[in-house]
Amino acid sequence: MNNISLSVLLIISSALIGNFVIYGLARRRIPGVRYFCLLMIAMIFHCVGYAFELLSDTAGTMYIWIRVEYIGASFYPFLIMMFTREYTEEKSFANSFVVTLVLMVNVITLILVYTNNYHFLYYSSVGVDYSPGFPILALQKGIWYKIQVLFLCFSIFYSISVLMIKLKRTSGSYRNKVLFLLMGVSAPVITMLLYLFGVGPIYLDLTPFSYFIMSISITIGLFRYDMLVLNPITYEMIFQSINEAVIVIDSNGVLVGFNNVSKEFFPSLSKMKIGQSYDLIEELKDHNLDSVNPVHDICGRKYSFKAITMKTHRARIYVANDITESENAKKQLEILATIDSLTGLYNRRFFMEQVERSCVDGVFMIIDLDHFKVINDTFGHFEGDRVLSDFGILIQHNFPEHISCRYGGEEFALFMSETGLGEAYKRVESLRQKNNKGTQISKVTFSAGLAEYEIGSETVSEALIRADQKLYEAKAKGRDRICF
Ligand code: GH3
Ligand code: MG
Ligand code: MG
Repeated sequence: MNNISLSVLLIISSALIGNFVIYGLARRRIPGVRYFCLLMIAMIFHCVGYAFELLSDTAGTMYIWIRVEYIGASFYPFLIMMFTREYTEEKSFANSFVVTLVLMVNVITLILVYTNNYHFLYYSSVGVDYSPGFPILALQKGIWYKIQVLFLCFSIFYSISVLMIKLKRTSGSYRNKVLFLLMGVSAPVITMLLYLFGVGPIYLDLTPFSYFIMSISITIGLFRYDMLVLNPITYEMIFQSINEAVIVIDSNGVLVGFNNVSKEFFPSLSKMKIGQSYDLIEELKDHNLDSVNPVHDICGRKYSFKAITMKTHRARIYVANDITESENAKKQLEILATIDSLTGLYNRRFFMEQVERSCVDGVFMIIDLDHFKVINDTFGHFEGDRVLSDFGILIQHNFPEHISCRYGGEEFALFMSETGLGEAYKRVESLRQKNNKGTQISKVTFSAGLAEYEIGSETVSEALIRADQKLYEAKAKGRDRICF
């Protein structure tokens, strides 16, 4: 192959790499892509410079093109390292010190290449060799050349190691992506070794060609596959910063992502890897997360699920919220709104609602404890409370099938459904007698008023007013009695 065809090949490669750059810039939010684009721009400088170097015939013009090449080539170690570092988020080894060191070495390389004539630190000699059939630069490697190659090896070795670790930790289709990136960063190693050990066409630097292979491989790895599974920083950040569990699965039911909260909610996820089947999440396997009812009881806790379909990525995202506490609080509020805390009976409002909802005829009874004030005055308020609480239990015990409530301070109400007035009276009278036989120190009698209730003929409130009037009558007649 002559120098012209080689140059044409290099120019074509540069044009293709240029396309990758444009493609990459549109997706620069994916981690690593910014550095990958810079790396490809560096490759373009290298390829174009080398193409023109091959077409030049004097050492002077060739060296001008070498300078163009090195605008890009000097920074390979830094850009390769930064690409891997950003993509994998490995920042403990490639810390700011290491990264700055590599960048400094690369900057010095560029300066030394530009000023080589003064010190010959980069190339110890520069001449022209005509043996390949066309003039090429015959360069002797100087001390800094070796340092630059050392840093390039170091950066490639770093990238291969970090990507291999990532590859080992992943499975399924995610592996393919990392595999392509790994192949990409490994490509220059082969040609570099061939070049360094003098195998292959000695007069030709094959690295620009290997970088072309590298860009194709990395482009496939980065862009060919679904972006969601690429572990972008944005994705990672959102994932880890929210309080909900987020689980992402692809169209085949393969797990492509989950955040730390989801591991807390569903511990079996801690042992799972991306790429495994979603069915392996022990806690979720019996639950249909796409069902209409979004609330699921899982391991004694309540979770509400939201399913989002991402058509562009053919993925499904499940967002789970632990609503155990809020549901308990809601229940607590419901209890507070419906139950009287002292007696455990319904409160008046809820009692009336329940009776209205039951839609049956029956008898209302309102009970009022006699001279209750005396109990409070004699035995104290706590004892008064205890009597009220005991009376609540007494009512519940004697009328478990009927709706009862604490009607007011020391007043209780009962709705005896589908019961006639005579039957109702008999039952309340037997309760009165039973209560009077009690052996409590703070003994209390009660008076009661009964009123029949027929649906449609009056409202619940009206029937209760009549029962209240009967209670008043019982009080007026001397208390400890039932009127109807
Ligand atoms: P009567 O036979 O006419 O009904 O006499 P009474 O003393 O029961 O009625 P009155 O309406 O004069 O007093 C009711 C008392 O009930 C006054 C109030 O302090 C007491 N009471 C109301 N609610 C509570 C409560 O929750 N706990 C206690 N310990 N006492 C209460
Ligand atoms: Mg009263
Ligand atoms: Mg009273």
